[in-house]
Amino acid sequence: MHHIIIFLDGIGLGDDDPAINPFAVINAPTLHQLAGGQRWLRSTPYTETERSIFIPTDPRLGVEGRPQSATGQASILTGRNVPAELGRHYGPKPTPQIRAILDENNLFKAIIEANLSATLINPYPPQFFEVIQRGKRLPSSIQHAVLSANISLKTVEDYYQGEAISPDWTGIGWTTFLGYQDAPVYTPQEAGQRLAKLAQKYNLTFFSTWITDEIGHRGPFEDGVAYMQTFDGVMEGLLNEWDDDNGLIIITSDHGNLEQQGDRRHTENDVPTIIIGKERHRFAEGFSKLTDITPNLLRIMGLAD
Ligand SMILES: [Zn+2]
Repeated sequence: MHHIIIFLDGIGLGDDDPAINPFAVINAPTLHQLAGGQRWLRSTPYTETERSIFIPTDPRLGVEGRPQSATGQASILTGRNVPAELGRHYGPKPTPQIRAILDENNLFKAIIEANLSATLINPYPPQFFEVIQRGKRLPSSIQHAVLSANISLKTVEDYYQGEAISPDWTGIGWTTFLGYQDAPVYTPQEAGQRLAKLAQKYNLTFFSTWITDEIGHRGPFEDGVAYMQTFDGVMEGLLNEWDDDNGLIIITSDHGNLEQQGDRRHTENDVPTIIIGKERHRFAEGFSKLTDITPNLLRIMGLAD
């Protein structure tokens, strides 16, 4: 089996307010279809379609305050209530205690220890590896989990060889911000097709982007609309290529942010989880919060009861 997790940092289910919520205005037929023809909003309930299940998901985990990335991502990847263990939501980068929790066990580690394969499909530029090595920057909880499973992070070479997917999907950021003028650029649909293809090489392919959270913090609103409309095209390409017998596609997030522009902070809203694939009902059994993702996926993979 080949499963995909698409992690979009900082997207929650907010108000149906076109002045502050990109999800209230985006033109995104594929994303809306995945929620039974509905927008991804606070008012959108648990919904089943022919191909997907949409589940509002609790990132608060019973801990007061605004959910943060380090504890949220660690909860997604361990199934443990990390903010409760820590006594608070914390982020963006993991504390030593959060890193120790991830080192004990995490989704990537469990898969590798079962002699299956997993990857973080996003490439990182040389500058990223340099600042990590010099200790100038801490890996995120997701990156830390990957490294602690001895999985290497993908590089710019992997991207040029077509073995990685850019966090902006099209790769345009490599040609502009990062200055790789001859880097490949794809349409959103092509990026989705490539993800479907690359996923055949691994038992778990994890896509992660921080861009959605960054737009949530800094705006502008239009960038949020543009990113989610690009993602709509990606999902169109991915679903056209994807055989539902092949495995699950899970879209999720760690906390809200993008859905409430103008306030610059994370929200306490539910986040959307969308599950596609033949085993989606079995995965969705009892699913309601971030800590359900890893145990439920390991159950589908036959690696947990
Ligand atoms: Zn943030």
